[in-house]
Amino acid sequence: MNLDLSISQLAVKYRSGEVTPEVVVNECLENIERNNPELNIFITLRDKQELLDEARSVKFDTLLSGVPYVLKDAYVTKNIRTTSASNVLNNYVPDYDATVVRKLKEAGAILIGKTNMDAWGHGGSSENTDFGPVKNPWDQTRVAGGSSGGAAAAVSARMAMFAIGEDTGGSIRNPAGWCGISGLKVTYGRVSRYGAIAYASSLDSVGPMAKNVEDLSLILELIAGQDKLDATSSPNNVPIYSKNLNIAPSTIKIGVPFELDSQIKEAVGKLVSMGAQIIDISLPMLKYAVSTYYLLAPSETSSNLGRYDGIRFGQDRSNFTQESMRRIMIGTYALSAGYYDAYYKKAQQVRTKIIEDYNKAFEKCDVIIMPVAPTVATKLGELISDPIKNMLADLYMVTTNIAGIPSLAIPCGFEEGMPVGFQIQGPMFSEELLFKIGHQYQQVTDWHKAKPNL
Ligand code: GLN
Repeated sequence: MNLDLSISQLAVKYRSGEVTPEVVVNECLENIERNNPELNIFITLRDKQELLDEARSVKFDTLLSGVPYVLKDAYVTKNIRTTSASNVLNNYVPDYDATVVRKLKEAGAILIGKTNMDAWGHGGSSENTDFGPVKNPWDQTRVAGGSSGGAAAAVSARMAMFAIGEDTGGSIRNPAGWCGISGLKVTYGRVSRYGAIAYASSLDSVGPMAKNVEDLSLILELIAGQDKLDATSSPNNVPIYSKNLNIAPSTIKIGVPFELDSQIKEAVGKLVSMGAQIIDISLPMLKYAVSTYYLLAPSETSSNLGRYDGIRFGQDRSNFTQESMRRIMIGTYALSAGYYDAYYKKAQQVRTKIIEDYNKAFEKCDVIIMPVAPTVATKLGELISDPIKNMLADLYMVTTNIAGIPSLAIPCGFEEGMPVGFQIQGPMFSEELLFKIGHQYQQVTDWHKAKPNL
């Protein structure tokens, strides 16, 4: 199947005329028709005829030309309904494109549809949605992870070549890990957030999800860069990441902050056998990560969601899910006079401590390796019925957003028949290094090639 190829392999076939975008779009649509009724990945699927017309008129200007992708429904799309998986925005049809969407359009990528998620990004299982839970392609009694669950499941189930997700506290990495694909949380400001529906503005990031690291690097070099429509987007030069993904492993110092589980330990072992060096580091503030994040993110979201008052945007505020209501209440409380110092301000102070932990660690090592999640994909119902467990599942992911640093999640094995992923975290703007290390790992392992039997 062409959807098993990497983006660069597909580009070669396009150019030789061996395969056409029409054929690949049709393959996506066949997989969607067969498996979407069960997996519940799409909120909005584009019209078939429109897609095939677009596929027939592709000009091969970039490596993404004619490459089908899906978009988490957290990005506005001109003339295509955008819901953020919430009934509050049930009928919202934007009249402009998010910058990431515009860039992919200009590159010739083909948008297949908008994918299901935890509404507003609130959650880690894609169950907190008004469109029904997303199911994991590897086991339909389990969740796909979240909040970009539909995006990850679509790539894993070969309904698209890649996806654009959003990560505020793990929402790209968690579903990537649980669905057995690769995903990148970028440095804060690396990709424009213009047109991204805001969750928590000091933590939100736009990033790619795909089968392998090489694909991620190709996508990032096209979507990254400064944007005058997003004042937080960085003016830093965007490297052509995919040009050289090689690195001598003997030059890499890997920081390991605690005893790792079997699969992750094996992944580190693999890198060590190639010559990488292990450095013991400590991140003492990690134990405060979840509490810090769950004050900062709800505080910011309670403020961001204030615009959906039914007058400017939105239908009916009573349509917020329970999970969103919980966050709005926590956030409003933490920001209120009298509690501000004890909660919001304290969380901001701990945020600085977490940044200091990372700065100290990166004096000794180049990157840090840790798991994506403490468990494999949970059973449907398990996280949505237990809000504390739901928060604790984010333990290893939230510190990177708090510190603004990038983190690459890639598959490294299976447990209970389900994919397991690990993270490679690096200093600000170290995406190039993360790609190189991740790519070297994928040169000597095949975990990223495994796919669910559907
Ligand atoms: N699970 C985290 C939360 O619910 C992450 C969400 C995200 O990154 N959008 O806040």
